[in-house]
Formats: sequence, C-alpha cells, structure tokens
Amino acid sequence: MMAYKFRLYPSKQQEQALFRTFDLCRFTYNKLLEKMNKSEKINKKEIQHSLVEFKKEFSGLDDVYSKTLQYECHKLFGNLRALVQLKRKGIKVGKLRFKGREWFKTINYNQSGYELEQTGKRYGKLKLSKIGKINIRCHRITSGAIKQITIKKTAGKWYAILITDEIYKKQKGEGQIGLDFGIMNFIADSNGNKIKSPLFLKKSLKKIKKVHQDLSRKKKGSYNRKRAKQKLGKLYEKVENQRNDFMHKLSTKIVSKNKLICIEGLNIKEMISKKKNRFWNMRNFLDCSWAKFASMLKHKAESAGAEVIEVNPKNTSRMCSSCGAMQDIPLSQRTYSCDCGLEIERDVNSAKNILALGWGFVENETASSSMKQEAITSSII
Ligand SMILES: [Zn+2]
Repeated sequence: MMAYKFRLYPSKQQEQALFRTFDLCRFTYNKLLEKMNKSEKINKKEIQHSLVEFKKEFSGLDDVYSKTLQYECHKLFGNLRALVQLKRKGIKVGKLRFKGREWFKTINYNQSGYELEQTGKRYGKLKLSKIGKINIRCHRITSGAIKQITIKKTAGKWYAILITDEIYKKQKGEGQIGLDFGIMNFIADSNGNKIKSPLFLKKSLKKIKKVHQDLSRKKKGSYNRKRAKQKLGKLYEKVENQRNDFMHKLSTKIVSKNKLICIEGLNIKEMISKKKNRFWNMRNFLDCSWAKFASMLKHKAESAGAEVIEVNPKNTSRMCSSCGAMQDIPLSQRTYSCDCGLEIERDVNSAKNILALGWGFVENETASSSMKQEAITSSII
C-alpha cells in the first residue's frame, strides 16, 4: 500500500456538493449508531441492512454515492473495534459518540466511484461519483491501482488521500503516539518520553541576538554594518541547518515507530506571518520550528503510509488524561495531579490527551459548546 495526499480545488458548486455529502454521511453514521445502541445484540449484517431502510425513508441519501454511504457502517464498526481494544488494554473509555460537524472529518470512496486523470503535469482531475470532476494537484505520479480515496477538509483546504496497492519501501511502525509541543521540552510524547530543545540552538540564538544588537548600533551604509549583516546571514543559516538536522532525525524516528501520530493543530498562517528575522526570540523560533516539524512529520508519514492527525489543542493541558476532570494549572507547575490519583508530568498528560483526541473518542468541549459550534458552522454553509 502507498498513500498519497493531494490538494483538491473544488469549484463552488462542487464544494457545496461535498459539504452536502459530508452532512448526509454524518447523518447516516449517527443513524446507524442509534440503531446499534437500540439493538440488544449487535449484529453487523442487520445494521448494514438498516441502511436500505434509511434510504427509502430519506430520499436525499440518493445524492450520495452508495458505497460512500456503506462505508459509514464500516467506519462505525471500525470505531467499535478500536473502543473494545482500548477497554481490553484497561483504558477508561465511554460509549461511541454521535458525531457533530466538528468530529466528522472524512468521507470515503472504496474500490469504485472514482477516476484519476493524471497528465504528468502538476494538475489533473479527480472524478468522484455524484460530485464531479475536481481539479487536483498531484506533486507526484501515483504507482499501483487506487484502492481507496478519502476526502477531507482541514484548515480550509480540501485534500484527497489516495491509497494504492503498490508495496511501499519505507515501513511505518506499529505504535500510536500523541505529541505535545512545549517550551521546556521541544516535544513530550504520550509514552512519557521528553525531547529537550537542543542546547546548541539556544547558544546560537543568543549569538544572533547579540549580532542584531551590534547591527543596530552600526552606521547605515558603513562597511562595518555590511560586515555585521553578512555575519548575521551566516548565523541564521547555521541555526537553520542545525535545527533542520535535529528535526529531520527526530521526525524520521517517530514515523519509523508509529502508524498513528497525533499532534496539536497549529495556527500555521499566524506563524508564517511572524517574521523570520526575529528568530532570536525563543518563542517565535519555537513557533516556526513546530510548524516546520509538523510538516516534516506529515511528509514522512505520507510516504510511509502512516497518518498524522491534528487535533484542537484547547483544554489538552487542563484535562486529566485518566478521568477527564478539568483543572487550571499554572504554567510553572510541572506536575499534573488529579483527585483520581493520577500524578503525571504536565506535558506528558497533554500528549496523552492529544492522542485520545486523535482517536476521536474524547471530546474536549462540552456538548453545549460543540452544539453551538455546529450552529455556527451550519450558518456559514
Ligand atoms: Zn483524574
């Protein structure tokens, strides 16, 4: 299997059709879950069959490609399996939840209902049954037959994830991991490991700061100012190289060990708008670094067939990763301790929550606020 992630550029009309498909699939998922909750004994065939009845009852469902709807049943049972596995591991989990818009992220085309026209140039067309021919940007030519397509929208952009039957060379790991980006630790993971920001970066940043100050004292147009500028350029380059090297090694290691990597969603736009020439500011520097690190992870995960999931970081540091209770803890407090008995390093607690959010079983917002969110989303659409 090979996975390719390509950007989609739907027309306004196609986008409307996609939104509608998402809504109808979500409706179907929730209906199937309702049916499952009502059944005394869970019978997959029976629940699958109820789809036929829903279709008679709700004629709008005809607007969705039939296999895409069927896939929701597959998804539901996949989630159920994952839940049972967690329970077996002794992890406290609730019931499967009905999905609000915020929690419904993908639709699938499995085995049929799609066609990719790849011309060898950057842009091609992806034909999706019941949606149309969507412009797609392929940064590489796919190999093998396409077996499945997942459509998703994240951060305002549409993507298609294509799975082909080609055997990939890079092997992903078997683990699942949540990563928390922090100041003290560059990352802390859900297994309890912490990676400190390397010291040489701090040293180099200090140097940069000093040269910046020197530069501001030099007369404009002077030879000395020119020299200082050159020195600064070289320093920046050095820091960048050091940082990239560090992040490349770390991201490769993480992808090689995990098939699911959950990270906090970063506001990349805001980060990119921050100017690079204020690199010596540690906070700025870290923001830029995390954004870059996240994109490295995504690229490597894609070529290895692993998945990176970005979650909403809200409340991940407040919530107890064991019992779900909320509390405010000041930044200076490094240990998270909860009435339920959990004593854990603060960043590791966050990383565990990020992983749980990635699984999609823990909601980090109360029901009412997510409903409010839904109302806002639907008014936009
Ligand atoms: Zn607790």
